[in-house]
Amino acid sequence: MQKKDMNVRKMIAPPSDLPQMEAALLHQEAIDEHWMVFALQQAQEAAGQGEVPVGAVLVGKNGLLASAGNSPIRLTDPSAHAEILAIRMAALLVHNYRLPETTLYVTLEPCIMCMGALVQARISRLVYGAADPKTGAAISVYSIGRDQRLNHMIAVTGGVLAKQCGELLKNFFREKRNGKG
Ligand SMILES: [Zn+2]
Repeated sequence: MQKKDMNVRKMIAPPSDLPQMEAALLHQEAIDEHWMVFALQQAQEAAGQGEVPVGAVLVGKNGLLASAGNSPIRLTDPSAHAEILAIRMAALLVHNYRLPETTLYVTLEPCIMCMGALVQARISRLVYGAADPKTGAAISVYSIGRDQRLNHMIAVTGGVLAKQCGELLKNFFREKRNGKG
């Protein structure tokens, strides 16, 4: 490495801190994957009930608050998306309609309704699996958690276990087309 590069690196962070920063990032990645596996299980359960397989998990500072699978058909409720159900359960649990310092994990990029609910609930962070290029409202079609005109911003991480999350949806629709679902 050239001397010039070393200086630049020193200005960003002392070299001794770099492994720590890297470890912290890897640690966050592992945490995200852990909860996404749990969200995938909720999605699988939803599929078993004939629902489009989407699962959500809401996590607070002390761990799991709520989890749910997509259930609009079962509940005859167009708003019964996994995210909405998890948010409702968590709010009841903590007796607060605001859920600050929480992270919502969901297997598919949320729709506009769910992103609206995340804003209303003041959720701090959203982690999703597969992107939804047709109706995704976090990044793909709209960017609701990052819209400066709204009074609440949400940190968004997409693509966590995206392949598994997407495959689950693809397989579900393939089986439906083949008359097995
Ligand atoms: Zn939704």
